[in-house]
Amino acid sequence: MTADSTLDEEDRLSHEETFRPDTARDQKLSVFDSVRVHSDNPVQPVKLKAGDSFNFRCHRGVSCWNTCCHGADITLPPYDILRLTRRFGVRAPEFLERYTVPADHESAGMPVVKLKMGGDDGTGACPFLAEEGCTVYSDRPAACRYYPLGLISVKLKDSEVKEDFNFLVREDHCRGHDETQSQTVAEFCKDQGVEPYEHINRGWIDILMKLASWRPMGGPMGKEPTPQARQMFFMVSTDVERLRKFVFESSFLERYQIPAEAVEMVRGSDEALICLGLDWLKNVLFHEPTVELRPEVLQEAIAKARTEIGAA
Ligand code: SF4
Ligand code: SF4
Repeated sequence: MTADSTLDEEDRLSHEETFRPDTARDQKLSVFDSVRVHSDNPVQPVKLKAGDSFNFRCHRGVSCWNTCCHGADITLPPYDILRLTRRFGVRAPEFLERYTVPADHESAGMPVVKLKMGGDDGTGACPFLAEEGCTVYSDRPAACRYYPLGLISVKLKDSEVKEDFNFLVREDHCRGHDETQSQTVAEFCKDQGVEPYEHINRGWIDILMKLASWRPMGGPMGKEPTPQARQMFFMVSTDVERLRKFVFESSFLERYQIPAEAVEMVRGSDEALICLGLDWLKNVLFHEPTVELRPEVLQEAIAKARTEIGAA
């Protein structure tokens, strides 16, 4: 049974309508790079919920084995990089140099990294591909786990509530869709181990989504993120060791009121540290109350801002 056949026609049409970006109605919409697209427009415009089923199975017996691991467009969120650097026991700069290429996130305009595909034109094999398959399988990126599902996040106009949903990517070369194995989206995601990736990368996705929605207005509150903010975004996204130094060896903990138990958690966990880094970026970029400046630092910042605008 395919994703199409799990939905009756009326449902299907209403799902299709919901899926299409409608700028008059949907203030924000962003498709994240959970798709490793090669062919033109292979995305089925059907919104899949956790309980919807689709036919798919990938295994060594398929005629297309490894095809999708060539020329794939895979952006690496923070948790993906953490897992891979841990696997190789290398520091982030070395990992980035060997296995990634820098890029600008198309809709948010922020610096990100993508997996470096082989060949001069990037259509060659993923650096982690061997004849037997993926050599980093237990630490493979979120995009590889989701495939052939894509992830989309939508925020309706005048609503604070975001909605995430999946859709099916049906590329011509992928024979996994011909298999008879049927599973729900929830079963597939559980089987692929996406939960920690969803949890830790969520804040990063939220930031990109907000930046994308602010872009037509020139950036958050009408201002482009500063070069320093872009550097900080890149540090939090890619280099947990530098982030740790920043939090524990700069004046960060003197400036922000981080509860003692949270500090201890962050001290012992890179995952918690990334979450703190992302919360801090939300505060810096959008003034969200995700972390709080200490009162005296806040007063100082207000006084400085007033001086700068000549209101002292
Ligand atoms: S990380 Fe593994 S699954 Fe993902 S593209 Fe590379 S080889 Fe394929
Ligand atoms: S079935 Fe699809 S996901 Fe599996 S190897 Fe073939 S192209 Fe890749």
